[in-house]
Amino acid sequence: MKILVINTGSSSIKYQLIDMEGKEVLSKGLLERIGLPNPVLNHKLNDGKIHVIQAHIKDHEEGMKLILDTLLDEKLGAIKSLSDIDAVGHRVVHAGEKYASSVRITSDVINALEECSELAPLHNPPNLMGISAAQKLLPDVPHVAVFDTAFHQAMPPKAYLYAIPMSFYDKYGIRRYGFHGTSHRYVARRAGEMLGKNWRVLKIVTCHLGNGASMAAIDKGKSVDTSMGFTPLEGLYMGTRCGNIDPAIVIFLEEKENLTPQQVYDLLNKKSGMLGASGVSSDMRDIEDHSANGDKRARTSLEMYAYQIKRYIGSYVAAMNGIDVLVFTAGIGENSPLIRKMVCENMDYLGIEIDESKNEVRGKERIISSDNSKVEVMVIPTNEELVIAEDTEKIVKEGIEELPIV
Ligand code: AMP
Repeated sequence: MKILVINTGSSSIKYQLIDMEGKEVLSKGLLERIGLPNPVLNHKLNDGKIHVIQAHIKDHEEGMKLILDTLLDEKLGAIKSLSDIDAVGHRVVHAGEKYASSVRITSDVINALEECSELAPLHNPPNLMGISAAQKLLPDVPHVAVFDTAFHQAMPPKAYLYAIPMSFYDKYGIRRYGFHGTSHRYVARRAGEMLGKNWRVLKIVTCHLGNGASMAAIDKGKSVDTSMGFTPLEGLYMGTRCGNIDPAIVIFLEEKENLTPQQVYDLLNKKSGMLGASGVSSDMRDIEDHSANGDKRARTSLEMYAYQIKRYIGSYVAAMNGIDVLVFTAGIGENSPLIRKMVCENMDYLGIEIDESKNEVRGKERIISSDNSKVEVMVIPTNEELVIAEDTEKIVKEGIEELPIV
């Protein structure tokens, strides 16, 4: 079965065509600047080279058409006919409390996702545009939605409720939802496979450290807590997002700097995090370079970053009454031995100890804990597209509407 995996942003479409037989990526690419000047499609060829296509693309439907034409192209493509695509799996950010697993897309599902758009105004509307465009161009195949929030729906109320008047939960659905669920699910399951153990018996803490970053406590295959909240702004500090701060700072800044709510929101989402704390960049590589060259503020921002990850690990160990596995994934988690080292030092009380030479790895699966470590510490590159394709295949093959939660 060949499955097209689609991840649509407000001006971009990321795609992968996966042959499920050998779990082989036949083709992948990224179309950016849809509806803007100079749209560009970077299409990856089988030999690893990138073929760049520039075209006028006014909306997501034109974008999807260009992607399908490229997949059909004799030289660049991977299929002979559109009927070679058996199903489409869509990444969708927010399903609110409506769906706790992946679903076949029907008109009811679309209506439910439209209702959730208020909770994810930057993400759900483009996701829905991608679904609509793909359904128009591939009307005869099943389309499946895989949600970022779904995996975290297993959290108990004590983990997802905020101590504000409950009327706001009832009225607006204000609660912790959590994001990156597909990534946390993938790396936790993969950790079990690599260790030759069923992940549903393990206590796992997963650290998804990318430009957006979140952590999860996964107890016997269920997410019991996660660091992102009502929006992706809560939790760890990230490339440009502030993460946890005292909420009173918002009011203080509004008054002192004479800022509107939207300006404070932008400040906390786009100018804070690594960029704000380091004063250097939102990119961890730049901060590591500046720190190595003696920039004190950059060094402090690295220490702040590692320290808050440590604090989350401690709280998740307490929440699960133990930990068997600690996983690092995403851009920083997969590629920064320095951050992994800073997070894991002085954690021997919890049984976490890494082997410095094993830790010298970038972008590859590896167990990096020392022989004495009680906890398995692992680096696992994430693969959300594969999970989306697998969920899609299961729903289509089993002829079901929704994946059962196991
Ligand atoms: P992601 O959002 O998962 O693509 O992660 C992006 C982030 O990963 C970038 O902002 C970088 O800070 C970080 N990153 C990528 N490569 C490295 C590296 N070699 N060392 C440290 N950080 C890296």
